[in-house]
Amino acid sequence: MTVSVVLFTSDLRLHDHPPLRAALGSSDEVVPLFVLDRGIQDTGFDVPNRRAFLADCLTGLDAGLRERGGRLVVRSGRTAQVAAAVAAETGAAEVHVAAGVTRYASRREESLGRELRSQGRRLVVHDGVITAVPPGALVPAGSDHYAVFTPYFRRWSRERLRDPYGAPRRVTVPDGVGSEPIPARREVTGTAGGLVRGGEREGRARLAVWRRGGLGAYADRHDDLPGDATSGLSPFLHFGAVSPVEVVHRARTAGGPGAEAFVRQLCWRDFHHQMLAARPAAADEEYRDRHDHWRSEREAAGEIAAWKAGRTGYPVVDAAMRQLRHEGWMHNRGRLLTASFLAKSLYVDWRVGARHFLDHLVDGDIADNQLNWQWVAGTGADTRPGRVLNPVRQGRRFDPEGAYVRRWVPELAGLAGPAVHEPWRLTDSERARYDYPEPVVDLSEALARFRRARGG
Ligand code: FAD
Repeated sequence: MTVSVVLFTSDLRLHDHPPLRAALGSSDEVVPLFVLDRGIQDTGFDVPNRRAFLADCLTGLDAGLRERGGRLVVRSGRTAQVAAAVAAETGAAEVHVAAGVTRYASRREESLGRELRSQGRRLVVHDGVITAVPPGALVPAGSDHYAVFTPYFRRWSRERLRDPYGAPRRVTVPDGVGSEPIPARREVTGTAGGLVRGGEREGRARLAVWRRGGLGAYADRHDDLPGDATSGLSPFLHFGAVSPVEVVHRARTAGGPGAEAFVRQLCWRDFHHQMLAARPAAADEEYRDRHDHWRSEREAAGEIAAWKAGRTGYPVVDAAMRQLRHEGWMHNRGRLLTASFLAKSLYVDWRVGARHFLDHLVDGDIADNQLNWQWVAGTGADTRPGRVLNPVRQGRRFDPEGAYVRRWVPELAGLAGPAVHEPWRLTDSERARYDYPEPVVDLSEALARFRRARGG
């Protein structure tokens, strides 16, 4: 009997899974392994919303494997050591894994490769599992990565992706391989009340509904704050419960302007991953140094606390920040305007905001979060780093009737129509009826401060 180990990481699915497909093709038995990584737990990246979603994904993966005659093996420890130990224990000749797209994952891959080689075994690394196009596959003349989105998108759009693979019919796992219990969502405390359920089945169902429903109108509606008109696929993509290659493929076969706009957004995901793979330090350091002297956390403590609590006095900012707390997710337009508000209007270090997002976002992802934050703060890939989003104009434009604000800021629910975006225009006696704070900052002073800081 030949045995292979398939090490699952950010690819928690059975459909379109090149490592699993290759392992099943080359061996009689397969050990589907997931390691609860102590290293990740130590980084503080392991937070309740993502831990709960991960538990759903692992439970779903185990159920899917059981339907096919197999099961998931879960162990805990340092991934490289544990995977090498499982390979030794089962006599596996090969370990198959998806190519990592973060610095942490590349180091893990290197150390696992070394460990396996020393045992006379082989690590087989598969591209196109975690992103549609692998980081590093496309490079412009004279650089090792793209730093501007539009040329990357043009080049990316010409790449021919493989057709997605189906799920295997049967998975045979060797007898006697011990597993720890699979973490259960109910064991995780401190999660957001409105957190979505994770797992491949849920992800595929969402994708199918999205393809038949919202996708067609995406080009016109993706910025509609109250409309919930985006796919909601981000946590499923983050954990790999759906395959990026398959999502692109399905959107392309649906066709039309909605699908084109949606595929462009999926390209942003690959774009940020290729940036971070080339410049891993951009997770914490400015990708482009604009010589900012951000206000210290101490100096801006009150404003930061108001921003986190959704009590800045700017209703659309507060609505989005409360959506984050309640759902562990926030609409992209909300992310843009709340991030701009913190980094540019309050002139607080983007890392403070990025950390808060990572503490809550179920889709919290180092590449997408840190580089989007840098994009908004003007230290990343934005070609207009000086632009500042005005929260009142953003609210009037993307929540024209104020429905999004009224949903998340119930104190203002009595205010009809777009007036909800400017409660300070009410008379004093009207204002007294609403328990809602005064704006934490004057927007024109904030703009002047930001322009001065950037030497403009
Ligand atoms: P849709 O609009 O349906 O888009 C489909 C998919 O395209 C998304 O699921 C996502 O995978 C990808 N995508 C869309 N926009 C972007 C983008 N700007 N950058 C990268 N990928 C994109 N996305 C994350 O997945 N994780 C994060 O931690 C994250 N942090 C962000 C922080 C800030 C400050 C900003 C401005 C954006 C951030 N995004 C992040 C990107 C984006 O907001 C989310 O991917 C999107 O809101 C998820 O909702 P959706 O799946 O309904 O998106």
